[in-house]
Amino acid sequence: MIRAGLRAKGLGLAVALASLALTGVLAQTPSPFDPAQGRQPDWKALEPEMMQQFQAVLRLDTRSPPGNEHLVAEYLKGVFNKAGIPAQIFALDANRSNIVARLKGNGKKRPILIMGHSDVVTVDDAKWTFPAFGATRDGGYVYARGTVDDKDNLTGGLMTMLLLKRLNVPLDRDVIFLSEAGEEGNSNFGMQFMVNQHYPEIEAEYCLAEGGGAVRIGGVAKYTTVETLEKIPRGIELVAHGISGHGSIPLKSNAIVHLAGAVAKVGQWRPEIRFNETTGTYFRGLASISPPDVAKHYRDVLSTDPKLRAAADEWLFENEPLHSSMLRTSVSPNIFAGGYRSNVIPSEAKATLDVRALPDEDPIRFLEQVKKIVNDPAVDVRFTAQNTKPASVVDARLDSEPYKALAAAATRVYNTITLPTMSTGATDMAQLRARGVQCFGIGAAIDAEDGPKGFGMHSDQERLLETELYRFVRYNYEVVHDLARAK
Ligand SMILES: [Zn+2]
Repeated sequence: MIRAGLRAKGLGLAVALASLALTGVLAQTPSPFDPAQGRQPDWKALEPEMMQQFQAVLRLDTRSPPGNEHLVAEYLKGVFNKAGIPAQIFALDANRSNIVARLKGNGKKRPILIMGHSDVVTVDDAKWTFPAFGATRDGGYVYARGTVDDKDNLTGGLMTMLLLKRLNVPLDRDVIFLSEAGEEGNSNFGMQFMVNQHYPEIEAEYCLAEGGGAVRIGGVAKYTTVETLEKIPRGIELVAHGISGHGSIPLKSNAIVHLAGAVAKVGQWRPEIRFNETTGTYFRGLASISPPDVAKHYRDVLSTDPKLRAAADEWLFENEPLHSSMLRTSVSPNIFAGGYRSNVIPSEAKATLDVRALPDEDPIRFLEQVKKIVNDPAVDVRFTAQNTKPASVVDARLDSEPYKALAAAATRVYNTITLPTMSTGATDMAQLRARGVQCFGIGAAIDAEDGPKGFGMHSDQERLLETELYRFVRYNYEVVHDLARAK
């Protein structure tokens, strides 16, 4: 799945940022733990175990299709059994199972859910230097499909469960772990199934999932992102109708001509800019750590001066299209279909627009706007049938307990500020947000330079620095410990 904001690889932004000479802005802060908080993990001593668990899940071939996520579910069942943590497998299809494990708290607070998806995208084996499911260690990296999407989150969650249990940490809330199937293509087997048929098993106040993480530039973590909300996919189709006839006699009503005109108008349209708490905070934060010439654009786009804003908008569209998409409900015409013979004027032609709506967008109002832009009675404008992701009923709040805990942990573990991001793509958090769960997207730190070099998620090779696995497990544990331990 596409990760949020600055971590989204292959979108050009990481390249843009890699060239920025960002500076670290926070001094090292001491560990927050005091003796009153009980025994703490010995992180150095835990490194071999973290690596062993990471390699074990990476070596299970869960490329999807076909998935075979049961391999991970069964492996984890064994690990949880051995650790004395109750765990249960749930499956719509026996080969595509999910597993839920739970550490009981005293019930003072509602549970927290930590989840990761066990499926990975397929691989072109011939293009891999090291086997895609070998988890080979080389030069300080681990190479395998899933190292940064999403077996880092799976391992982080697993280790957190094991350590909370081992250290006997008293809990104010249940900590639930979910390894979910089918994230990369079909959530029917995973999140959709769990939410529809086993919701009490995963019901929580807060959720941690994929979608964020520290970004390293030049080998140093510069900022840490937390995905706090995401845009909602809402496909729209344009259908032009005209009179059919012989191609030798051009007609004014030609459906293809009308459709082309409509697509051109919509393609050039820039829906209004609208900020929310996350994107406003994000652009302000980014401005605070960027060189002056780039920071200017981030500040200008937030300006109330329409001229400054328009110029910055133009610059972002040209240079940082991901950021441009974060400003508005975006429209991208992606399918254009019509005609079947060169000498036949077709009576119909159809285009599909990929619309990614801001979370607070009013769909009906937006559809009316598109109709106005198209402004052609020969072209119908309507939503497609495939709007599958539900709208959130709650956004993760920046003044919430988890966000504060995540920001504090990022300061300690990565020595960075935290920027909230809105994903332009959709994730499995959508189904939980639609149930009112505040969800936060996290992940292991990656080098901004790694994606463009071909080592990012979904690339022909994928890798994670060993040291970043260790740091991420600590970050994950400290956040959950902070949120769940008895106080
Ligand atoms: Zn993913």
